[in-house]
Amino acid sequence: MKEDIEKLENLCRGIIKNSYSPYSKIKVASALMTSTGKTYSGCNIENSSFSETICAERVAIFKALSEGEKEISLIYIFSEKGFPPCGPCRQVLSEFAAKDLKVVIGNEKDHQIHNFDDIYPNSFSKEFFK
Ligand code: ZN
Repeated sequence: MKEDIEKLENLCRGIIKNSYSPYSKIKVASALMTSTGKTYSGCNIENSSFSETICAERVAIFKALSEGEKEISLIYIFSEKGFPPCGPCRQVLSEFAAKDLKVVIGNEKDHQIHNFDDIYPNSFSKEFFK
């Protein structure tokens, strides 16, 4: 898993420059690996109509889904301060999370690895529709 995390961190470091964050001045990047082993990355994209802002995680997730991917096995969220994923991103992740999804939260200095179930327990999920 260490190599996968390094790969995702490098993708984050490469894409964070594309962050469009003139309002918050907070640049965030995210990169993920799907259960098929493919990787996708994204950065936050703000809007003057703040509610239209989208987080880096959801950009990466939607890029993967729009390419036909179905399940996320590892996701890295990278920012200067090491921000964790927000509530809406956790909810979107829950829809497409592999059973053992790991969430890596990091910054320039280090990172922490979390089990998704630990940071978003008892989520509202598609299981309720079965
Ligand atoms: Zn978010």
